[in-house]
Amino acid sequence: MLDQPDFLNAVAAGECVLEPLELLRRCNALEAALGRDRARERAKGPRTLDLDILLYGGELIDLPDLKVPHPGMTERAFVLRPLIELEPDLADPRTGRPFADFLPSVETQGIYPAGLAALY
Ligand code: AMP
Repeated sequence: MLDQPDFLNAVAAGECVLEPLELLRRCNALEAALGRDRARERAKGPRTLDLDILLYGGELIDLPDLKVPHPGMTERAFVLRPLIELEPDLADPRTGRPFADFLPSVETQGIYPAGLAALY
């Protein structure tokens, strides 16, 4: 949704001792703790915080509440750019294709590095 204020995106990587569904539950609890109220928001509109699980090692997860790799991740520049910054050679466990391969098709989505905001 373009009709909304700018928002910040980031990708983080870490080791995790939680099972995937428990990780999702904790992410949702963090969103709620920081003021997110799903009942009052528009789909893809402004949110105080939106935590997504992009990858869980090389696992493929297809549960009603959790799909990993995140289904939309290869179509979103704001996901691919920071992901590739962090892990340039990372490949999609579904296909073995490097995530960097998807960048050319999503280049024009209006994102820019947060440190350069004054130039845009
Ligand atoms: P969102 O509005 O982006 O926070 O996502 C809404 C729902 O997507 C959540 O309640 C999850 O159950 C579901 N979901 C499915 N796959 C994922 C994923 N990989 N990461 C986060 N949420 C997911």
